[in-house]
Amino acid sequence: MVSSSVFSPSYPTRSTTFLESLRRQGTTDDHIDDTGPNGSRHSPPQAAVPLKVIVVGAGLGGLATAIALLRRGHSVTILEQASALGEVGAGIQIPSNSNRILLSWGLGSYLEGKAVEPEGMTFRRWENGKPIGYTKLVPEFRQNFGSPYYVVHRAHFHDAMHKLALQLGVHIEVASRVVSFNAEEAKVEVAGGKTYSGDLVVAANGLKSMARKVILSGREKPPSRTGYAAYRATVDVETMRSDPELCWLLEKPSLNIWIGEDRHVMTYTIAGGKSFNMVLSHVDHSDPTTWNENRNTLEDMRNYFKGWDPCLTKIISMIDKAMKWPLLSGSKVDRWVAPSTKLIMIGDAAHAMVPYMSQGAAMAVEDGAALGEILSTVESRDQIPHALKVFERVRMERSSQMQEASLLNGKIWHFADGAEQEARDESMRAEVEGRHFVASANQWSDPVTQWWAYGYNAEEEVLKAWKASLTDPKPLSNGVHSML
Ligand SMILES: Cc1cc2nc3c(=O)[nH]c(=O)nc-3n(C[C@H](O)[C@H](O)[C@H](O)COP(=O)(O)OP(=O)(O)OC[C@H]3O[C@@H](n4cnc5c(N)ncnc54)[C@H](O)[C@@H]3O)c2cc1C
Repeated sequence: MVSSSVFSPSYPTRSTTFLESLRRQGTTDDHIDDTGPNGSRHSPPQAAVPLKVIVVGAGLGGLATAIALLRRGHSVTILEQASALGEVGAGIQIPSNSNRILLSWGLGSYLEGKAVEPEGMTFRRWENGKPIGYTKLVPEFRQNFGSPYYVVHRAHFHDAMHKLALQLGVHIEVASRVVSFNAEEAKVEVAGGKTYSGDLVVAANGLKSMARKVILSGREKPPSRTGYAAYRATVDVETMRSDPELCWLLEKPSLNIWIGEDRHVMTYTIAGGKSFNMVLSHVDHSDPTTWNENRNTLEDMRNYFKGWDPCLTKIISMIDKAMKWPLLSGSKVDRWVAPSTKLIMIGDAAHAMVPYMSQGAAMAVEDGAALGEILSTVESRDQIPHALKVFERVRMERSSQMQEASLLNGKIWHFADGAEQEARDESMRAEVEGRHFVASANQWSDPVTQWWAYGYNAEEEVLKAWKASLTDPKPLSNGVHSML
């Protein structure tokens, strides 16, 4: 369930100040009171202690971890259960905080002609598409955060990461489903009995990771249902372009999001502008195990958005295939590193989140980058357990705040028409009218949230924490002392 403190976030933001003014007026409802950028490659210093690392899972998180480690001279084997590598046929946003890292690794050349850089993101009123919020991405995000904000087809993103990992010398074994983790010996066994061992095992095996239970010494902490679900779909751009009522949406690359009571639709073009990607989300408390039996997916999806902006419903009527996904959020766990310090988890395995900040994969990329950085900074093997605890502390804080920010959007966007919705729209009005503002309910625009989300440098932050931990003797979580 959504945390009751969702409207009192622990991260820096002014996205909820519109509610404070409502509270002051006494008009708020009780339920809301429930308190290198630019593609340059550089050769980074090589690790003093090169490690042999086994990464489980070749998703975006596993590939990012492999790339970050390979660049610094570690050797990496990835074990992937699928018989061929790939991603689902949908889009993904690559926000500046992760794109800065990826481009500095040299991913840009593999994304050429595939990634789209949207000019901005427009929040639209559900019933008529009227702009109610706006974030200008170009050139602001490049200028302020040192990297463009991209949207891309997942398959293209995954393929680019795969190629870069191969170029750096990764060894990937497909059709290799890990069936057991030996945390004491940094060893795993795959179906069929073959075993692999190294200095460290990184579990990047997604939401249903079985490594989590091993790391938590047998405790079950599966991600929890949030009451949100999403349909993912794409529409052919040429069909839209030939419709005079829709072609304006394709004039410039942009993100458009329609928001209304309990529902929203996020859209953008992918595949170099050839495909129109849609994520249609709604509140849904039904049991996801029953969804497969449902033959009326398209009809249900259309019904959720009946009466919405005619432009939007017209696009929805063009969808001929959609997938419905439950949106889960990772449960709070007290560690990502097994007591042996030979097995750790990252990405969705550690911190799944609802996609309402478009940051799940970005957090996995940041995890990989931070791990690569800290493991390449240690000067001796005895420092590794300590380095992993510093990594865990820094990344847990960052990703749990992003989980919070994502859930908060699920509240801010889904107000029914009324006092909160009006105050929210009023708080975003200045950005639509191009006036100066200091706070916004739009977390892409709110200046404080923006710097926290997109200005974050995962490599620098973990390094700072590492250096501080060498001079500050205060204990880290689970009793490890920072002075070695
Ligand atoms: C609708 C939707 C929209 C989203 N939009 C965005 C967005 O715009 N931007 C963004 O940053 N994020 C977004 N996300 C989140 C993002 O998709 C995930 O956070 C990200 O893909 C997680 O990557 P991962 O590598 O941790 O896990 P996964 O992608 O789940 O990869 C895990 C891999 O491990 C493999 N595996 C699993 N078990 C085993 C095993 N036992 N042995 C071997 N291999 C195994 C799997 O086959 C898989 O390849 C969105 C998510 C959803 C649902």
